[in-house]
Amino acid sequence: MSTHNHTRRIFLHGLLAAGCVQCLPRFGFAETGKMNKTQAKYQDKPKGDQQCSNCMYFIAPSACLVVDGNISPDAWCSLWIKKPAEEPIGKI
Ligand code: SF4
Repeated sequence: MSTHNHTRRIFLHGLLAAGCVQCLPRFGFAETGKMNKTQAKYQDKPKGDQQCSNCMYFIAPSACLVVDGNISPDAWCSLWIKKPAEEPIGKI
């Protein structure tokens, strides 16, 4: 991953963490607030064990919080971040 893309990914993550989805267009992301597939270096296949279905931004069955368009669960892009493990239900 290039330094530019890494910096952009950290910046995007910060905006999302701050709950500032409406700020995304102001910082060069698409009008939808999402990056296009080319900018995100989207590919139709996984990268090792990294794929959309285990990314924190994936919205099943075929969308993404940060990348525009139809998203395959078996695809990958440079914004991939591991989905946090789900907490077991039952113990309080
Ligand atoms: S890897 Fe994550 S950020 Fe990239 S397109 Fe797939 S779900 Fe979206």
